[in-house]
Amino acid sequence: MGRGGPCVPRAQECGRSAGLYPAHVPTCLQVRAVSGNGASVSGGDGEYDYDLFTIGAGSGGVRASRFAASTYGIKAGVCELPFGRVASDTVGGAGGTCVLRGCVPKKLMVFGGEFAEAFRDSVAFGWDAERPGLTWQRFMENKNKELERLNGVYMKLLEGSKVDFHEGRGRVVDAHTVEVDGRRFTARNILVAVGGRPTVPPIEGAEHAIISDQILNLDALPGKIAIVGGGYIALEFAGIYNNFGTEVHVLWRQAKPLRGFDEEIRDFVNEQYRVRGLNLYPQASPTRIVKGPDGKLTVHADVKDGEPVVLEGLDHVLMATGRKPNTHNLGLEEAGVELVEKTGAIKVDRFSRTNVPSIWAIGDVTNRLNLTPVALMEGMAFARHVFGGDPNAAPDHQAVASAVFSSPPIATVGLTEALAVEQYGSVDIYSSSFRPMKNTISGNPAKAMMKLVVAADSDKVVGVHMAGPECAEIMQGFAVAVKMGVTKAQLDTVVGIHPTSAEEFVTMREPARRIRSEKKQPVGTGGNAYGTHTA
Ligand code: NDP
Repeated sequence: MGRGGPCVPRAQECGRSAGLYPAHVPTCLQVRAVSGNGASVSGGDGEYDYDLFTIGAGSGGVRASRFAASTYGIKAGVCELPFGRVASDTVGGAGGTCVLRGCVPKKLMVFGGEFAEAFRDSVAFGWDAERPGLTWQRFMENKNKELERLNGVYMKLLEGSKVDFHEGRGRVVDAHTVEVDGRRFTARNILVAVGGRPTVPPIEGAEHAIISDQILNLDALPGKIAIVGGGYIALEFAGIYNNFGTEVHVLWRQAKPLRGFDEEIRDFVNEQYRVRGLNLYPQASPTRIVKGPDGKLTVHADVKDGEPVVLEGLDHVLMATGRKPNTHNLGLEEAGVELVEKTGAIKVDRFSRTNVPSIWAIGDVTNRLNLTPVALMEGMAFARHVFGGDPNAAPDHQAVASAVFSSPPIATVGLTEALAVEQYGSVDIYSSSFRPMKNTISGNPAKAMMKLVVAADSDKVVGVHMAGPECAEIMQGFAVAVKMGVTKAQLDTVVGIHPTSAEEFVTMREPARRIRSEKKQPVGTGGNAYGTHTA
């Protein structure tokens, strides 16, 4: 979706092309009476207060509510906790995780860190700017101002779509009733879109660790940190803080990071993180965090088949050890809504409906494919199905592209090589690793890697993977092609744009290898690179 990422709202539904990052609130908004404490709401269809009441004003909840209200003219209400940068049972904010403590602030920090590499690289291009100073507080203040602005934009977008906003913690009372801090609202349909929360392993001293909400909001640039985990969040913050000049140590419990991604990409990222000077500890599981009298932390970790690791003098330990659905204390079990026992996720059918017919759920709380644009898709499909009368409107979780904004970034759509071999048996692999043109003159040792996975029998391109500069921007276009069923022969007819890295995707002529084996599972299963997160 371009410069700001998919979770930044557009204000076009009121007939104004406000652009991706509207600098001001659209003027055509009409403010609907919003209930405060004790205020009443006018009836939806007479039987219920609302046609739709949504718990959670994150990306998915806002999109579903305002799309349903503005497109189908239904009466909608949404509840959300008061704004804050670190989430808790009493703090949240319109915009949710992605906007306030996820994708948006993270990407701003990625941009911030990337200047360091640009300054270093610029020297060989004749600039004398190797290491200018950094005023961390100014950066944090500007980032925070932007988040507050976006929170306001989300509120205005709800108002503009005539969705009532109720501040407070929502709880399901029964199949048609929601309670928000003591106020009760009835609704024909209830949508649960409360997202997820970070999980922290219960090791000794875990209370000294921080989570992603907090690493986005440090008062000072840390000198030395440890990051536990080898997933999206761990790699992103490892890259960000390494770029800012922090000494970064990353511990993951697998042999390689990014379980579920293509093996070649995993190897490549592992190697590139070392090239960039990060301290990596594979197969390491932390056992203890100790806080010293000087406030510095020490992490102790066991290493499979190796010596234990002890990391001392740490300013922070970030636990980036996964997230789980935020379903506790929501009244769901009491209302008869079935949850997945292991994860606490809400069980839904392909239309996002729970086992209680009037209660629906979208986004990370359903733990299908935990990405903001997927929550938006689920919200739109829900509205079309329930209020637009389209019996077939269901989200499509196949071939969803995603990116990890690590350094180098990674972007991927479709199947990994391993999944493609399982599903198709006969697979051709095209891959290329090279030094981007900019790095030749700068002396920057970082490389890029690209890979196509082709089902040999049909010639269809079933997986596209890249790690290297601009890969997220490049991948969006290839995601369209893969979704449309592009073949390798069709890619071969495309003329490249020169000189770019992207042209490599249409100029790889000879397969690196041809794999011929038996299919192990039917085509159509596990259609995303991050197979463990596939619906
Ligand atoms: P991930 O599931 O990506 O990674 C979790 C990591 O923590 C894995 O390496 C996992 O290891 C490890 N881990 C889990 N439990 C423990 C433990 N007890 N001890 C040590 N290590 C442990 O989760 P994240 O927290 O990084 O991100 C959460 C989700 O948020 C992602 O799955 C993604 O869907 C979404 N997200 C998307 C982003 C994007 O689109 N760019 C950015 C950030 C988040 P193992 O592999 O062994 O299980």
